[in-house]
Amino acid sequence: MAQITCSFCGRNKKDVDLMVSGISAHICNFCIEQAHEIVGEDKKNKKSTTAPAFKLKKPKELTQYLDQYVIGQEDAKKVLTVAVYNHYKRLQQKEEADEIKIEKSNIIMVGDTGTGKTYLAKTLAKVLEVPFCIADATVLTEAGYVGEDVESILTRLLQAADYKVEEAERGIVYIDEVDKIARKSDNPSITRDVSGEGVQQALLKLLEGTVVNVPPQGGRKHPDQKMIAVNTENILFICGGAFDGIARHIGKRMNTQPMGFNSASTNAAANRENLLQYVTAQDLKAFGLIPELIGRLPVLTHLDPLHRSTLKRILTEPKNALVKQYAKLMSMEGVTLTFDEGALDFIVDKAVEYNLGARGLRSICEAIVTDAMYEIPSDQSITALHIDEDYARSKFDTSKFKQLQVA
Ligand code: ADP
Repeated sequence: MAQITCSFCGRNKKDVDLMVSGISAHICNFCIEQAHEIVGEDKKNKKSTTAPAFKLKKPKELTQYLDQYVIGQEDAKKVLTVAVYNHYKRLQQKEEADEIKIEKSNIIMVGDTGTGKTYLAKTLAKVLEVPFCIADATVLTEAGYVGEDVESILTRLLQAADYKVEEAERGIVYIDEVDKIARKSDNPSITRDVSGEGVQQALLKLLEGTVVNVPPQGGRKHPDQKMIAVNTENILFICGGAFDGIARHIGKRMNTQPMGFNSASTNAAANRENLLQYVTAQDLKAFGLIPELIGRLPVLTHLDPLHRSTLKRILTEPKNALVKQYAKLMSMEGVTLTFDEGALDFIVDKAVEYNLGARGLRSICEAIVTDAMYEIPSDQSITALHIDEDYARSKFDTSKFKQLQVA
């Protein structure tokens, strides 16, 4: 029988650790390793000569994707997708092109808690395949004192990008509860407001674009770590907050404007309910954000309150809707799980009753299905579970929630 030799280096099979055979050729482990290195080098070279691989999706494509996960919030989706599209178009802009420099379009979202602000930002980052992190502005409140420094936001982004600086530099940062760093009083001279205005000042540079030395392990615990320089110029910052009470500012402003909100108009009631849709930079300033910060968050949008019908859709429609998730979990046990309309309405009613918004849907569902999830895996005889309103109510009434209501 003919000797088997490597078709690349000619080594004999007995001189190598491994010989892989193809249709009419063989390759030894040495040549495999070498070929692997060549492929790696080639990839690296291609990466550094071409712009970072990034597929820009158009606003409508982005919205279509968002629609699969986030229900409603049409205005926010439109504003966000356009801003995000323009932001990444700006990154692809050639330096030498012309004098027109597209400015950064950081975003600020105003909407009640649990209406999907974080979820929108997160889903956008997912479809764009860029690193994403969430920072909590309230933690920064005491920056310079006990809390985290503003730079720590970027530590998280670096971690999300696996410490690939280039990737982190075109990531998205969501800064939650930005309303909590509002200046406490509209008069800046009364006292020095380190917790609010101080943090707003610190954020300015970050939002606009600067090179920040970031501690890769975060804050104070590792004092001698080597800093990583991160340029924030192309990082998209999305800020969100509930801005409790801002509706009052909006209402007041609109009432004082001759062309504005008129209580006698037919849709006045509906509009009054969602005053946030009229939010302007002026209202943010009245709320206590400093004009410089507002200026660096040029794209402003609002989220609508979640009504019963929206909550019900959230429960059932999104790609990973709660009801679908529970059904999936059960199907893995060989059990068909179904909820009837009555049960779904009951869950929505409770979310509204406890004022928990979309975030509460999950805990209410848990209260209802936990017993079944406990029993079913050990009981092979069960093949189907139908949850109707009575079942939902009985499980809910014996859960922790009931105590909550008493309290
Ligand atoms: P916040 O506005 O306080 O940032 P989140 O984005 O964290 O609220 O929303 C909490 C959870 O509620 C999300 O993880 C998501 O599961 C659900 N949710 C909220 N709004 C929507 C929505 N419009 N569509 C689908 N799910 C939503």
